[in-house]
Amino acid sequence: MATRAFVQEFLRDGDSVVGVRVRDNMTGDTFEVRAKQVVVATGVWTDHLQDLIGDPETFAVRMSKGVHIVVEKSKFRSLMGLLLRTEKSVLFVIPWGRFWIIGTTDTPWDLSPAHPVATQADIDYILNRVNAVLAEPITREDVVGVYAGLRPLLAGDTDDTAKLSREHVVANPAPGVTVVAGGKWTTYRVMAQDAIDAAVAHLPASVRDSVPASVTKDISLLGADGYQAAVNRHAEYATRTGLSGYQITRLLGRYGTDIDLIVEMIEADRGLAATLPGTKDYREAEVVFAARHEMAIHLDDVLMRRTRLIFESRDRAIQAAERTADLMATELGWDAQRRAREVADYTARATAELAAELTTNDHEAEAAWNQVAEVSLGKDGFS
Ligand SMILES: Cc1cc2nc3c(=O)[nH]c(=O)nc-3n(C[C@H](O)[C@H](O)[C@H](O)COP(=O)(O)OP(=O)(O)OC[C@H]3O[C@@H](n4cnc5c(N)ncnc54)[C@H](O)[C@@H]3O)c2cc1C
Repeated sequence: MATRAFVQEFLRDGDSVVGVRVRDNMTGDTFEVRAKQVVVATGVWTDHLQDLIGDPETFAVRMSKGVHIVVEKSKFRSLMGLLLRTEKSVLFVIPWGRFWIIGTTDTPWDLSPAHPVATQADIDYILNRVNAVLAEPITREDVVGVYAGLRPLLAGDTDDTAKLSREHVVANPAPGVTVVAGGKWTTYRVMAQDAIDAAVAHLPASVRDSVPASVTKDISLLGADGYQAAVNRHAEYATRTGLSGYQITRLLGRYGTDIDLIVEMIEADRGLAATLPGTKDYREAEVVFAARHEMAIHLDDVLMRRTRLIFESRDRAIQAAERTADLMATELGWDAQRRAREVADYTARATAELAAELTTNDHEAEAAWNQVAEVSLGKDGFS
């Protein structure tokens, strides 16, 4: 498995694709990967990959920006979430630990796919819609976190991204390559099954016949096998770690049966039960877990992706960066220079997001992001 690796080119034998040339974004090295079938599952980058294949026509994927805001539970006193109909789509108010997540927006995005950013206008739209039904309005000052993402939607006959299909399609645009495009998070298993079935169908008969049918629908999520038995050990976990019942429930929800690994880490080093600066929930052990078991190799992997700290703190987790870097440095063997660069890169990225949120449109937001971010983005938009 190669992460932070970028497909630059498809290798060919005549008309057939026989592999890819990949650049390792960490080292700049390039290497080849040969395969009987290459599966392209690149979301909003699908059009770019089609260009590399030399097939600009099979799919057109539109990018639709969606923004959510995060507010503390106390700002909306309810035991239930909300589902509201808006003029374009729907708006959800979803419980998320100590917070509510409120969103979303649905607007076309024509800028870089690498880092969609939220604007003041996006935040105002969400606040206006939700405040229309709340007795006590949520204010801009109540917003703890904001995040933006891009939906990869198959282009249709309308400019309104809210009306475009959320279905996925699979095609073989050239011999040796299968592309899956569109789709949703919740349909990832059927997307994977359809893509692999299509790839296998194009293998030589001798290989194809030895590939068993997909079993994805019978495979439990990571941490799900034995989950109820782990829940029954709730009190034992609390005793072994010294953590509160609330924290054990949170860790069970986040890690499932992998909570055993977290508990063992804390037993071996009680200091890992401490919270990270600026958070009431995230424990130092979770940083070590991310580096040791979840392939986190940069500070932003932990603060933005393995945990959701960036969205749950007003300073976008900048105050947690130093301590998180200490823990990762110990776990991954970073020297002082690497550690300092990770903190500087993360701080620049988080500051850029805060700057973008003060702008009123996507172009200004991206310009603000680019101006502040001193992160070493590659020319392809990958860090
Ligand atoms: C606001 C919002 C709300 C949503 N709500 C829902 C919902 O309620 N339910 C739901 O099911 N879905 C929802 N979605 C949609 C869902 O999040 C996406 O459909 C899904 O995350 C897309 O996953 P993907 O794997 O197709 O693409 P991605 O997660 O974007 O993965 C594509 C990958 O391809 C890699 N890549 C690109 N180019 C290259 C290259 N040249 N070489 C190597 N790698 C490359 C990228 O680095 C990336 O990791 C929502 C999306 C948004 C933005």
